[in-house]
Amino acid sequence: MVGINLALASGLHRRYGWPIVSVAAFTSALPDWDGLSILFGGEAYARAHRVWGHNLLVAAGSGAAVAMLAYGLDLRGYFTKIADRFRRGAPASDKLTRARPPAFCFVDLVIWLSVGIISSLSHLAVDLFYSFHAQLTPWPLPLLWPFSDRTWVFPAVAYGDLGATAIFIIEMFCLVRWPARAQFIAWISLSLVAAYIVIRWGLVLNSVPPGYS
Ligand SMILES: [Zn+2]
Repeated sequence: MVGINLALASGLHRRYGWPIVSVAAFTSALPDWDGLSILFGGEAYARAHRVWGHNLLVAAGSGAAVAMLAYGLDLRGYFTKIADRFRRGAPASDKLTRARPPAFCFVDLVIWLSVGIISSLSHLAVDLFYSFHAQLTPWPLPLLWPFSDRTWVFPAVAYGDLGATAIFIIEMFCLVRWPARAQFIAWISLSLVAAYIVIRWGLVLNSVPPGYS
C-alpha cells in the first residue's frame, strides 16, 4: 500500500494508468522475497530474511528489473489486453483499449524505473521503523550489504501492528468511493501513516528503560 500510495500521490496513474500503480505495489513488497528462505528451515530464514533482499543494492536493482520488464510488457500492449479481458462485455467506450500500444520513450522508461526503485526502497524505509516488539529484539537492516555488515534500525512500531493497516483499509473504501480524488486521498493516507509512526516512535522512546538500544 505504501508503493501504491507513492504512485497515486505522484499522479502518475493519470498518465500511465493502473499498470504503473501495480508495478509500485509489486516492487514495494518485493524485498520480502528473502522471507521465502523459511521454506529451507529456520536457520536459512535467520540468515537470509531481512538481509538478501533488504539492502539498498538488491532492493534498488530488483525494483528496477521488475519495472523495466513491466515497461516492456506495457509497450507490447500486455496490460491493455488484461484489462480488456476483465472488462469483456463492457461498452467499448468503457474499455481501457488503446488504439495501439504506446511507443518507446526514454523519459517514460526512466519514470517507470524510478517508480520501481523508489517503491522497493520504500519497503526498507518502513521496515526500519516496523522493528519493535516488547519481548523480541529489533531486527536491523544491513542496508550496505554485501559491502558492509553495518546495520540500521529505528524500532518504533511493533511487527504486525494494525494501526497503519487500519488507515489503509479505510483508504481503500475512499478510493472506491472517490476514484477521481485518488491523488489527494493518497497524500492524506501517507501523511496519516507517517504521523502514526512518529507518534508510536515517541511512545517507544518514552517507555524503554535507559540503556536500551
Ligand atoms: Zn520486509
